[in-house]
Amino acid sequence: MTANIPTPDNDPSGARYSRQTVLARIGREGQDKLAASTVLVVGCGSLGGAQAEFLARAGVGRLLLADRDVVELCNLPTQILYDEQDAEQRLPKAEAAARRLRAVNSGIRIEPVIADVTATNAAELVGRADLVLDGTDNFETRYLINDAAVQAGKPWIYGGVLGTDGMVLAVHPGLGPCLRCLFEEPPDMGSAPTCSTFGVLNTAVAWVAALQATKAVKIITGAEHDGFFHTLDIWNGTVDAAIAERRVDCPCCGQRRFDFLDSKRGSSAAAVLCGRNAVQVTPERRLAPDFPRLQKNLAPLGAVKFNGIVLEFIAAGRRLTVFPDGRVLVSGTTDAAEARSLVAKYIGS
Ligand SMILES: [Zn+2]
Repeated sequence: MTANIPTPDNDPSGARYSRQTVLARIGREGQDKLAASTVLVVGCGSLGGAQAEFLARAGVGRLLLADRDVVELCNLPTQILYDEQDAEQRLPKAEAAARRLRAVNSGIRIEPVIADVTATNAAELVGRADLVLDGTDNFETRYLINDAAVQAGKPWIYGGVLGTDGMVLAVHPGLGPCLRCLFEEPPDMGSAPTCSTFGVLNTAVAWVAALQATKAVKIITGAEHDGFFHTLDIWNGTVDAAIAERRVDCPCCGQRRFDFLDSKRGSSAAAVLCGRNAVQVTPERRLAPDFPRLQKNLAPLGAVKFNGIVLEFIAAGRRLTVFPDGRVLVSGTTDAAEARSLVAKYIGS
């Protein structure tokens, strides 16, 4: 440890965080609250990586970094925590993020969680944190986070980015709407484009992540809940802030039904197929995929073929076969988390 790097232990004068403690909206008291807080970042890709870096630098005392993926070369334009060496070594993102952020701030605790966040572990992970940040790339996990956070009464910050657009909502149970108040159902499988099929600009990611991290800091330091649902377009430089209303008949925060957490629906199952080097991912909502749209979205990214019944897509050594009942067979791996990740990236869930 280099002695002249200020940490809370060797920086009693508080020089390290002086630009924040002098900020009237945070102050010494707010800084102490940040230091005493635990934040769970679900997904450490483009959004989650930027959120984690903002919060580590801001002095959030404990970060839990959950991610199921490894670093790949195509991540580097948008995922600011990682470098070419991480991609070459195919390091798990949670581990690579923890290493990077420990070098940024050795005075905080950083715990990598190399795991797929599912109905099995979501409540436990959310229970360990004071606040949750959405750094995911799929709706399945977001609806799961919404259930777990509303059930536990913990705030979470939804963020989505696609192309040059983004949206942000702070869900603060008891003070405003939850995700299902605004969007009761996730989009149907294959109906919504993903960043892998549609593209994304890194500055849009940074903007959405910055707004999410700001809302996290506001909640932790006790600022008044603003209730805004933000939509932004960085290409045009516009941000809209509409007041989001809570729905008394919302299945989640109104009726307190936690459908996604209870695995009654929404959570896809991944089964490793013995001796076949393949994983079958079965979405709970077994709807017919929108094959023409999928074929069009996937065509620029790899070999795609639709025979009128099943769609086959080959990219990066993996073959995804999409069936009419929504099942996806991922061949070339026995890693269930990787299979679910590929389905989320390319098919959308
Ligand atoms: Zn609700």
